[in-house]
This record gives sequence, structure tokens and C-alpha cells, in this order.
Amino acid sequence: MYIGRFAPSPTGPLHAGSLVAALASWLDARAQGGQWLVRIEDVDHTRCLPGMDETILRQLAALSLHSDQPSVYQSQRAPLYQQALDQLIASGHAYPCGCSRRDIGLALQQGGQVKPRHGELIYPGTCRQGVHGKAARAWRLNVQARTPLRWQDRRLGEQSQDVALDVGDFILKRADGCFAYQLAVVVDDAAQGITDVVRGQDLADNTARQIVLQRALHLPTPRYLHTPLVLGPNGEKLSKQNGAQALDTDRPLAALNQAATVLGLSKQHALADALAQWVTQWQGLYNRSP
Ligand code: GLU
Repeated sequence: MYIGRFAPSPTGPLHAGSLVAALASWLDARAQGGQWLVRIEDVDHTRCLPGMDETILRQLAALSLHSDQPSVYQSQRAPLYQQALDQLIASGHAYPCGCSRRDIGLALQQGGQVKPRHGELIYPGTCRQGVHGKAARAWRLNVQARTPLRWQDRRLGEQSQDVALDVGDFILKRADGCFAYQLAVVVDDAAQGITDVVRGQDLADNTARQIVLQRALHLPTPRYLHTPLVLGPNGEKLSKQNGAQALDTDRPLAALNQAATVLGLSKQHALADALAQWVTQWQGLYNRSP
């Protein structure tokens, strides 16, 4: 049984970019005769805006994209994430870390390797054998596997990443007590029985980390499909930060047509059968491999 999901963070209203992921995940679920769930990813409360969940759900409803089950909220699932973290601690996969950003910067400098990745420092593993008398601030995953992890994307083809080398021991629970996106998403995808993750290509880079976590937690790995991005005027991914406008849901066909075009689907002239037409086109484009 196919179960897909759209997992917006309520940090702003849906825009032309996020609708592409929403529409693609909906079409994929419908094309497979499966279920489509909406999960509100408000685990990082410092980034969320009050009421934005309602706004997003209203926008989706105005576009006739309805979740097949009541929406799940990550902010209500901390006990599940803690359980997973406890399991990782018990199995020796997770360890406490007492390093501040400054400590990490210094250690990297001393080791002669300051190579930030997306502005993030690659953790040098300082606390892997103990916190050296410092207070534990966060929890990290001990990423042991050194060989590149390979995975198949339904649109991008074969992908590979050496998580230990390119990302390092990543955070599972932050110093402020907030669970990390990687842990929350892996726990939720498994708990909701998600078989297919369809999301924006900007998130493709997280997939290897999520597979590492799934393996450490003995959870199944879903299939992945990463959708094309809509670029903003500065050539970067369209986002609130670079001027994305909230979707105009008073003109649902126009909004949907724009997203459909990005996905390689043809422009429709009638709202009444647009979604059905696209489901058929989608089936032709992305027949799920068995
Ligand atoms: N909540 C994430 C975002 O809005 C998406 C996570 C996912 O689809 O895995 O960027």
C-alpha cells in the first residue's frame, strides 16, 4: 500500500516553490492509488510562525489537495523522538557532545581542516570518546560507515554521499533540547508507514543521512523522488528570504498550472479535470519501479 506525504514547515505560507513539492507528492500518491498525508513539521519551534499551519492547510484545501488523514504535528511527538534517541544511545550509535560552535571551529583549525559545508562546520568527532569534562549540550550520531552510501532517486537516478566524510557526526538533539529535523523526519516517516518520499530537490542532500539513521534504527527506507526547484530572481531556490510571494489561491488553476509546468506536465484549461489529467501524465512520467 502506497503512503506518501507532504511535510511543510510552518515558517511561511505556501509559495510557487513549495507547491511544486505538494502537487508532486499528491500526484504520485494518486497515480499509485495510495494515500497522501500532510505532516506539519514544527519540530523547530524557533522557526515556526503561529497560525501558519492553518494558513498552509487552507491553501492546500483551496487547491483541492486534501490530506487523507488528520495532519500530524511534530511538536506533539517529542516522546517518539526521545524513544528513538534512547534506542540509538543504547545501541552505541548516539553520543553526548559538549562542544560549542567555537570549540568545533578551533578543533578544525588545529587539525588544519576548515571546510564549511552549507555554512556548517563538519564536526571533527571531538566528543566521540567522551565529553572531556565539559557539560553535555547536544546528542550526535556516530557515523561510522566510511564507504559512500548509494541510493536511487526516482527522478535524479543514482546518488551517493560519504556521510562520514562529507557531513560528519550530525546532531540528533540540539543544545536547546530541540530534536533535529533528520531524526524527526526518519521517525515520522516510519511511524506513518511512508513508502514514498516526494519532496524538493534542495532536500536531496539529506537523504543519505536519513538512510544512515533508518539503518541504525532498523527502520525501512522509503523510495525517494526529488522534484525540480523553482528559482528566485537571484538564481537561488525560491524562498521567503528571496521574495517568494504567498500563493494566490483565489486563482487556483493558475497556481496549479505554474507548478505543473515545472514538473513537466502540460498546462490545463479547466480546473474541474486538471488534477485528473495530471495524474495520468504523471503515471507516464514516473511509473514507480517495483
Ligand atoms: N519540512 C521540510 C521543509 O519544509 C520538508 C521535509 C521533508 O519533506 O522531508 O523543507
